[in-house]
Amino acid sequence: MTVYLDKNENAFDIPENVKYEFMEYIKKTNLNRYPEKGLPSLLEKIGDFSGFNDENIIVGNGSDELLNILINQAKGDILINTPTFEMYNFYANNYGYNTVNVPLKSDFSLDTENIINKNNIKLIIICSPNNPTGNLIDMGQVEQILELGIPTILDNAYYEFSGEDYTDLLNKYDNLIILRTFSKAFSMAGLRIGYGIANKNVISNIKKLQAPFYMNVLSAKLAEIMIDNYSTVQEHVKYIINERERFYNAVKEIAYDSKANFLFLKKDLYSYMEKHDIIIRKLPLLKDRSRITVGKKEENDIAIDAIKEYISKNL
Ligand SMILES: *Cc1c(COP(=O)(O)O)cnc(C)c1O
Repeated sequence: MTVYLDKNENAFDIPENVKYEFMEYIKKTNLNRYPEKGLPSLLEKIGDFSGFNDENIIVGNGSDELLNILINQAKGDILINTPTFEMYNFYANNYGYNTVNVPLKSDFSLDTENIINKNNIKLIIICSPNNPTGNLIDMGQVEQILELGIPTILDNAYYEFSGEDYTDLLNKYDNLIILRTFSKAFSMAGLRIGYGIANKNVISNIKKLQAPFYMNVLSAKLAEIMIDNYSTVQEHVKYIINERERFYNAVKEIAYDSKANFLFLKKDLYSYMEKHDIIIRKLPLLKDRSRITVGKKEENDIAIDAIKEYISKNL
């Protein structure tokens, strides 16, 4: 049986009781009707849950939709720090914008000095924990960047696994938008829901660029039900963090420490692991690296055994 540890999905599906509640909702809902414009009840729910007013929240069809809107709106050069999430480049290319790359330093921290020296940047994107390196970007460094006053996205997709919360920065910086998602900790990658938190003027400006019926009622409802079941999300997150530490300690020689639900590997093990029926993420732009998602214990055991064998034969 093939083990899939390539897309940083949650190892756990949403719980059965949530699926039942969802089916009850479908039975009594008129799917011939459009969603309520802007999905106010979902915004309010996410607002309450994250400790913000609904005016500070925007929801998207995956945080990908929000990235798409924000990058489109930049209308100029976009600063990124590789290695990082490839979708930033994808959208920038779609719109014909330049990406100005200031690579992360060898310890994967931001090269703030070089970032500050760039001119004419319209949007900065910081990913923390960073995909694929797995490390957190230092809060002080993020603040240094925000001081530039340039619109800045902090892509916080792995927030729940990280133990770091950047939302206090929103009190001080109107140029910051923090993006989160239901795809990872919430086990809902198949439903496509992400959200952004920012100053209410920033949010209302982005909402003007979004279609009124941006998301289907089923995804929206399931997100609401999952928020009501957040204790299950927390249990799963705790399990994955425990497994991440166990996994890392078993294969330290070849992996970097991580604050997300994956490990960044110091070798390209894609083909090797594929021979063991384990699919991991190949990183086409990084020749000697690869990335592996932390799965369930049984899956991790299989992957750890294979990697240990690789270490004993090759290192
Ligand atoms: C997985 C991931 C996302 C989430 O995207 P969705 O469109 O919400 O599924 C965003 N940013 C990064 C860095 C990711 O790894």
